Amino acid sequence: MSEQEFFGHIIDNEEVESLSGERFEVWNPWKREVWAEAAEGAAQDAERAVSSARKAFDEGPWPRLGRVERARAIHRLADLMEARTDDLARMDSTNMAKPFEQATHDVARSVWNFRFFADHQRDHVGEVYPMDTGHHTYSEYGPAGVVAAISPWNFPLMMATWKIAPAIAWGNTCIIKPSEDTPASVTLLGRLAVEAGFPPGVLNVLNGHGFPAGAALTGSYDVDRVTFTGSSITGRTVMASAATHLAPVSLELGGKGANIVFADADLDNAVYWAVEAIFRNAGQICLAGSRLFVHSSIYEEFLRRFVAAAEKLTVGDPFDPATRFSSLASKRHFDKVVSYIDAAREAGGRFLTGGVADDGSWVVRPTIVDNLPLDSAPYCEEIFGPFCVVNSFDTEEEVIHLANDTRYGLNAMLFTENLSRAHRVASQLRAGTVWVNCFFIRDLRTPFGGVGDSGVGREGGNFSREFFTEPKAVVMQIAR
Ligand code: NAD
Repeated sequence: MSEQEFFGHIIDNEEVESLSGERFEVWNPWKREVWAEAAEGAAQDAERAVSSARKAFDEGPWPRLGRVERARAIHRLADLMEARTDDLARMDSTNMAKPFEQATHDVARSVWNFRFFADHQRDHVGEVYPMDTGHHTYSEYGPAGVVAAISPWNFPLMMATWKIAPAIAWGNTCIIKPSEDTPASVTLLGRLAVEAGFPPGVLNVLNGHGFPAGAALTGSYDVDRVTFTGSSITGRTVMASAATHLAPVSLELGGKGANIVFADADLDNAVYWAVEAIFRNAGQICLAGSRLFVHSSIYEEFLRRFVAAAEKLTVGDPFDPATRFSSLASKRHFDKVVSYIDAAREAGGRFLTGGVADDGSWVVRPTIVDNLPLDSAPYCEEIFGPFCVVNSFDTEEEVIHLANDTRYGLNAMLFTENLSRAHRVASQLRAGTVWVNCFFIRDLRTPFGGVGDSGVGREGGNFSREFFTEPKAVVMQIAR
């Protein structure tokens, strides 16, 4: 990779500068230096990308290709991604300090996003409703049109492909705007789509900031669907903007996941997943288990093991194979997490381990805190960093109340060897996903999304089909 790579927009299968010629700096947060530049999209660049996607949808071959050919084209892209796994992973690791092994894993999951949705649309079946009136009705799932997809920086490639894959598989054309912090891997993906022979306009990449580039997409009357992953506050703006032209939105937003460890849990397993849930990707995971609730009878023992496991994580250069944990993704984000650490100290939190590395880097070490007031900002708000708040509980009812006492509702985890309790508690947790004795395991057929401030709608399997198509009922007379 050269010292100063450039990531342009990909519009109509051409990699282009912004019409203004403006660029922005792309940072390497581990080295704390600029390593590339990207095109700074403005409203006029967004218009160009949207009109390319519009034309490709209204006049181009993609929506008319047929499900088998479309699946074949998408698998070709997936093959190219597989062949370039190291390059794609290197971009995310450079761009946001994700340990290379984790970034490689993300590429594999991104490839699977494409393969899964290519096959899902190819093999899908509709429904037939026999009627008592001498008719039947069947359903058809035609593409919705032009999709604007906006993604965050924490899983730059994976979050983008989670949106692009179902959108294009169902015959739509798409504009993806990656986060301004991480334009690299998604731009490479756009280049690979050209190489895979995608018709112009099927996958456009628009680089730039949320405002004006992202806002110009969500507000465009030529956009038929808006799918967004990011913070709850931006989600509100995105929804309001899409409402001006009544485009349906799918919003995957923030979280403050509860992780509950009952007294009868397999402690080795619970400790392993508690560490993964809050320290993988340096805690920059919407699904992070950032509020940990441990039964009082095992509280001290669990904390001892949890703290020891957190302290064992090797902190360092994302490209060092031993590294499990690296710096935060940007200076701006580092400052935000540090402000919550300061707030936790001021609120009287007991720091069991962690804190700011204080070596000039943008590292916040794996941090575990208890004794935080339940109305303090670090307890209530999404920090999106390696910061775990721990509390003890005595009864099932109490912990269900504690877990549900949040504006968010993306996910929860619970650890117990009691099957009845697992079912009982899982059904009472207010969350889009509940993991029992595990974390982060996904089957792409299942609904994914959140409750409350964590989002609107669900994606995955048929849920993605409902969102990215215009389902139609065809009523047939079958008897006269
Ligand atoms: P963010 O909301 O700041 O930005 C997300 C994207 O929106 C970026 O591409 C940004 O440029 C764009 N954007 C910003 N303002 C916009 C506007 N006015 N109009 C259109 N687009 C705009 O979020 P972030 O900091 O990049 O990501 C972190 C957040 O994402 C966290 O809250 C995290 O929980 C959430 N997240 C959620 C999920 C999920 O599946 N629920 C997954 C990953 C991340």
